[in-house]
Amino acid sequence: MIRYSVLSSGSCGNSYVFECDGQSILIDAGLSFKQLQLRLQAGGYDISSVRALFLTHLHPDHAHCAGTFARRTGLPVYVSKKCRLHAGAEYIALNLPQDSEMVIEAGDVVFSGPFSVSCFYTSHDSAGSCGYIISACGKTFMIITDTGTVNSQMIEDARKADFLFLESNYDVQMLRHGPYPVRLQRRVAGEKGHLSNDQARSFLFDAGFHESGKPVYLIHLSDNNNNPSVVLDAMCGFNAFVCARGFQYNFECP
Ligand SMILES: [Zn+2]
Ligand SMILES: [Zn+2]
Repeated sequence: MIRYSVLSSGSCGNSYVFECDGQSILIDAGLSFKQLQLRLQAGGYDISSVRALFLTHLHPDHAHCAGTFARRTGLPVYVSKKCRLHAGAEYIALNLPQDSEMVIEAGDVVFSGPFSVSCFYTSHDSAGSCGYIISACGKTFMIITDTGTVNSQMIEDARKADFLFLESNYDVQMLRHGPYPVRLQRRVAGEKGHLSNDQARSFLFDAGFHESGKPVYLIHLSDNNNNPSVVLDAMCGFNAFVCARGFQYNFECP
């Protein structure tokens, strides 16, 4: 049996856990270490079951406690090769112990317990940002978050995944008429920003989710420029589950 949880998603912190045969991996750690532990516990996960942490990128809402996590657990923390090569201030600030520093390159597969994990580059204003494809217990999960654009390879990979976690960050009208100054609006909607509800919906069509009925979890909703009911309306016709900002959701699959 595979179990998985959205421990939190959105600008207040992003973290996901996947468990197969009693072993688990984390994607992102954008919470305090205390909150991460509490949320794992609330989902019925033993922190000693965690084998590794994989980061999509180094913005604090994804990497906040990665350093503390590594120092407290001694576990490996993976970033993409481009992210590691860039090694900017955000990477240095994580202060990872040397033994925890791990790199994953797009196209390579990393094995961690029963999991095989690969990454693909996304388009975001954080060097080497990436998404992940995770296989374990006969199922494949794909996570696409914090990207201003999608490409045909992502569509192809999403077609093959059993479960998709897809950013649906903002509603175009809400962003345009919301509280953000024009410069910030341009950043959010730019090629290195975030996916809108419309972009997410088009992606799902292109990846055949209206025909396959496969589950999609809409994640990383903006607090100011989106809300769950707007997303749910936009995703009419899909087997969509909207993850409200900051909430925890636990799932299992036989
Ligand atoms: Zn980001
Ligand atoms: Zn983010």
